[in-house]
Amino acid sequence: MQTDEQFSRKKDQEDTLSNFRHKFFIPENTIYMDGNSLGLMPKDTHTVVERILDEWKNLGIRGWLEGKIPWFYFAEILGEKMAPVVGADHQEVICTGTTTVNIHSLISTFYNPFNNKTKILADELNFPTDIYALRSQIELKGLQPEKELILCKSRDGLTLNEDDIIDLMDDKTAVILLPSVLYRSGQLLDIPRLTREAHKKDIFIGFDCSHSVGVVPHYFDDWEVDFAMWCSYKYLNGGPGCPAFLYVNKRHFQKSPGMTGWFGYVKDKQFDLLSHFEHEKNAGGWQISSPSILSSATLEVALDIINEAGIQNIREKSKKLTSYLIDLVYEILSDQPYSFTIGSPEDPDKRSGHVALIRKDGLRVNKALKGKGVIPDYRPENLIRVAPAALYNSFNEVWKVVNYLKQIIDKKEFEHFSEERSAIS
Ligand SMILES: *Cc1c(COP(=O)(O)O)cnc(C)c1O
Repeated sequence: MQTDEQFSRKKDQEDTLSNFRHKFFIPENTIYMDGNSLGLMPKDTHTVVERILDEWKNLGIRGWLEGKIPWFYFAEILGEKMAPVVGADHQEVICTGTTTVNIHSLISTFYNPFNNKTKILADELNFPTDIYALRSQIELKGLQPEKELILCKSRDGLTLNEDDIIDLMDDKTAVILLPSVLYRSGQLLDIPRLTREAHKKDIFIGFDCSHSVGVVPHYFDDWEVDFAMWCSYKYLNGGPGCPAFLYVNKRHFQKSPGMTGWFGYVKDKQFDLLSHFEHEKNAGGWQISSPSILSSATLEVALDIINEAGIQNIREKSKKLTSYLIDLVYEILSDQPYSFTIGSPEDPDKRSGHVALIRKDGLRVNKALKGKGVIPDYRPENLIRVAPAALYNSFNEVWKVVNYLKQIIDKKEFEHFSEERSAIS
């Protein structure tokens, strides 16, 4: 393989998405490789947020029906923009809540333990909030998480084997919640296969797709997934704490939402303000409260950019970026004294948008990398996640990151940094 910088520039010239970078604010003198934690801000975000402020200023409450996008229908319209990105019908997707709240709402809908069918199957590598939510959902049903929550173990501490998950699906399993992508290693699970196996055993299955939506195409309807949720501030670039999304397959529209509120009421009768609850028979029925118009407005721009680029093209480029990164690490950083290893799957089809690099002294190496203007992130133990985002990162930036890492080890620069962790790394 070619390891010279010129080659990275050639790849940039061939990149059909390179013109999307100018749609984003790139922090000055920075190589931003953290789009898997917080995506960058599109330049047009200012315009939409200011439009909402103006609507509020000039229309007051009339904005609910007279805004350019009437606020009353905002969550549904964002759902329509989102639906093609995840392979769903527009009625099945809604912008609402936050990821953890949506886990509560969907698990409380799909988890109805009776007789022996009382268990929830998840995995030990999932993001902790998912596990916290599952535990409290079990407790709310008067049962014990220690007994009812089954966590599939990882064989290597980084990845899951789908066979191990399937082996744990049994008559006692009521619901399965898995991440589409493991947040540390970036492993992308085989969602269609897991869904088929769960359904053979009459088990509902849902996925937390926070680490895959916006970088990997999904086909929820074709895969027949029962439900899903995902956040919108990672690969979707909606901004910090932006409202999340959920998906409910249309065959479940009649199910009663587990957590109800007036925004889930039959839309055209919501303002009849009747005390008997009747939910809208689509994903909108799973809304709880008034949507945050100011903070979901950012998604109007963010989703337009993704739809314009095309999720297939984003995936193509993302695979090329992560493969290039891995190849360079093997070529330049795998021998001593560099001794980096890759904690992500080798097969690009089993990988999402980031690459996990592993090295002794990872925390200090990560700090040294930050000192050079690169923004990766660190997850214990010794894991440095590097996420080159297809919409705004270049092959040349990937080349630079690898060569900075080489310098950091060559000159032992990491030794100038302490082992202390800050609150967010
Ligand atoms: C990012 C992420 C979340 C975030 O949860 P919030 O409720 O938005 O704080 C949840 N689950 C997974 C798997 C994530 O990657």
